[in-house]
Amino acid sequence: MSATEQTAAAELPGYQHVYSGKVRDLYAPLDPATGEARDDQVLLVATDRISAYDFVLDTPIPDKGAVLTQLSLWWFDQLADLLPNHVVSTDVPDAVRGRAVLCERLQMLPIECIGRAYLTGGGLDEYRETGAVCGVPLPPGLEDGSRLPQAIFTPTTKAPVGEHDQPMSPAEVDAAVGGALATRLSDLTRRILARGNEIAGGRGIILADTKVEFGLRGDPAAPEIVLADEVLTPDSSRFWPAARWEPGHPQESYDKQFVRDWLTSPASGWDRRSGETPPPLPDEVVERTRGKYVEAYETLTGRRFGG
Ligand code: ATP
Ligand code: MG
Repeated sequence: MSATEQTAAAELPGYQHVYSGKVRDLYAPLDPATGEARDDQVLLVATDRISAYDFVLDTPIPDKGAVLTQLSLWWFDQLADLLPNHVVSTDVPDAVRGRAVLCERLQMLPIECIGRAYLTGGGLDEYRETGAVCGVPLPPGLEDGSRLPQAIFTPTTKAPVGEHDQPMSPAEVDAAVGGALATRLSDLTRRILARGNEIAGGRGIILADTKVEFGLRGDPAAPEIVLADEVLTPDSSRFWPAARWEPGHPQESYDKQFVRDWLTSPASGWDRRSGETPPPLPDEVVERTRGKYVEAYETLTGRRFGG
């Protein structure tokens, strides 16, 4: 498949393409009576696209879209007592069956709600400079991979495609959505991560951090917060094998490690700083990466992945 074929969303009879993110294609269902696009629902189709180092790669990972979709559906069930979610139906056209979900189209909040239970990545950089992350002071002596005394909320902006998300201070979140909603977003994000770790911990996986997206429904004066997008997947979260967790150095990531290792190795001939699109992935890297996504799904859910 060429890069253009992957990035152009496929035609789906009965639906109108409305948006493509890095990984998902969004469609509005057409009303059979009028032929008009409905504005209350959206078909969220997860493709097999994979991104690394902020590039969408030319090589798809077979079954990745289905794994992410099935895993999110499973998590939505595990979280159902914490908050409602956007799922309407999994009865979708055959062409996208298994990797698409018909969802309530929500007014999405313009915030990437990030929760961190362990310190690494951008959070670690900030801690080393200031002793705090997103305004939350942390005890001294934490290292790369340390478990935090309690999960913290470190939201960012949702930057347009091609730009970087920027950290948001508590005051900026308050200004964007109001204080009452801001408190609830922080609380819900941390509870989702905590529930995730309760469940994943028993299955040998640590969810170090995660990004969730929320939307609103109902009365604008007293809206209900609804969990949207994907949840607790290897694309939205850092999964670490618990048995190999050892603070003090970068942890082995669960899924994209083969891709990142190969891209930064001499074998790829690619220079990360060149700004050029990375080369196609070799079959072996594709197969091992696919295996990791499937393994994450099977380990967490205890189900076999049907393909
Ligand atoms: P970006 O949106 O910045 O491109 P991304 O690359 O992560 O981010 P994808 O995950 O590929 O995007 O696309 C999913 C898009 O669908 C996101 O913009 C997300 O906010 C949006 N979305 C998810 N659930 C809903 C929903 N229920 N209603 C409306 N939009 C939704
Ligand atoms: Mg996304």
